[in-house]
Amino acid sequence: MADRQSTSQRQTPAQQLLSLLGPVDTYHDTSHLGAFGMPSGAMTEDMLSPVATATGATRFGPLEKVHAFWFAGMSCDGCSVAVTGATLPSVESLMLGAHPGVPRVVLHHPVINMESGPYYLQPAEQAVAGKLDAPYVVILEGSIADETIAHLQGGYWSSTGEEPWGPDGELRPVSSTEWIARLAPNAAAMIAIGTCATWGGIPSAEGNPTGAMSLMDFLGKDYRSVLGVPVVNVPGCPPIGDNFTETVAAVLYFLQGFGPLPEFDELGRPAWLFGETVHRRCVRGAYYEEGTFAEEFGDPECLVEIGCWGPVVNCNITSRGAIAGLGGCMNAGGACIGCTMPGFPDKFTPFYSRPPGSLASTTVSRMVGSVIRPLRKFSNNNLNREVRWDKQGATPSAYSRERSEPSGLSNVGHKFYDRLRRHGDTARHDADVWGKRPDESPSGGSPRGDRANV
Ligand code: SF4
Ligand code: SF4
Repeated sequence: MADRQSTSQRQTPAQQLLSLLGPVDTYHDTSHLGAFGMPSGAMTEDMLSPVATATGATRFGPLEKVHAFWFAGMSCDGCSVAVTGATLPSVESLMLGAHPGVPRVVLHHPVINMESGPYYLQPAEQAVAGKLDAPYVVILEGSIADETIAHLQGGYWSSTGEEPWGPDGELRPVSSTEWIARLAPNAAAMIAIGTCATWGGIPSAEGNPTGAMSLMDFLGKDYRSVLGVPVVNVPGCPPIGDNFTETVAAVLYFLQGFGPLPEFDELGRPAWLFGETVHRRCVRGAYYEEGTFAEEFGDPECLVEIGCWGPVVNCNITSRGAIAGLGGCMNAGGACIGCTMPGFPDKFTPFYSRPPGSLASTTVSRMVGSVIRPLRKFSNNNLNREVRWDKQGATPSAYSRERSEPSGLSNVGHKFYDRLRRHGDTARHDADVWGKRPDESPSGGSPRGDRANV
């Protein structure tokens, strides 16, 4: 019992870090800095506000804007690249308030924004101090490094800017982890983008020295934003940009009071995006079903025997594509290595060798496929012929010279199949042409109206 109590009272990694670092209340003084040059004081928001500010007619709710703070933890910036390519909706349209009901997004992104240095950090400082002029969401790409490890050595793993938060107001690098810990309690939503931020990803793989973890692990399972939203997870390495912007738009509709809280699964993923496996919508799925498999990359068949994990991986890239509806792993010839999954990468290595569990299902597919494929080919050949050609015993196509006419055995087979197909059809006895009802036959046959007299 005592054990259970101490477990429930245990601090989250975020709380532990803040306990170590202590509170802050001193911020940059930008009054001595010029407006131009480096650091740049030209604010992106000042440029966009005049054209993007929503009016009452398009706002549909109390919020005119929402700040979005983008932080990079242990990251390769691939998520940023993926999101800037999103089209449904695009980042630009969200920043320009182009979607009625969605408050415009004031994005604070280290690559996109014009302002830099202390100017760039100012809105984040205001958010920490509780003085920001609108609600904010926090977006994290990359995993959370355990900065308590680095702090004890006098360093840091990954940082975003400097703040006068050292002894006696000295400037010190502020880790992305620290920003996240300070901003999370008052955020309207905390959104993890990409597998590093959602599950730890590659930086948390076996052997890493950083203690890298996911945003959800960092904030703890009891975390709720000020509006009651747990951590939202949009995985992928990199994620599909549209998956992310669509989820953000759905969350913003909710914050606006214009839509319900979107449906998330038990791991905080948008349920409508991650409910299906890759395999169920794969363009190569029919090859799997017929038991034919690629032997090397470049082959058109199913890739499972050269390392595809699609049947057991939740991801929608086969139906949505990678960017603007195009591309995506199997569509472009790549096998699924499970990059959206919490077990990635350790549970999927070595990449490009067949998943051991696939042996049973591919063996069954091969056995079934060896029967099904010839039968389908048989039917396919027959269905590629007009009934007229069957009657004439010839195919009058200039391209058909290399095609032989069906053999006698094939004709008997098709007649038998035709009888099976029309079993239970009471009009079948009236048909004088194989495969057609009388009133549809090229020779005219008995009109339907005569049938009662037969
Ligand atoms: S390539 Fe992968 S996802 Fe596609 S059918 Fe084969 S196993 Fe399934
Ligand atoms: S198909 Fe697999 S490797 Fe490709 S994006 Fe989806 S989870 Fe990642």
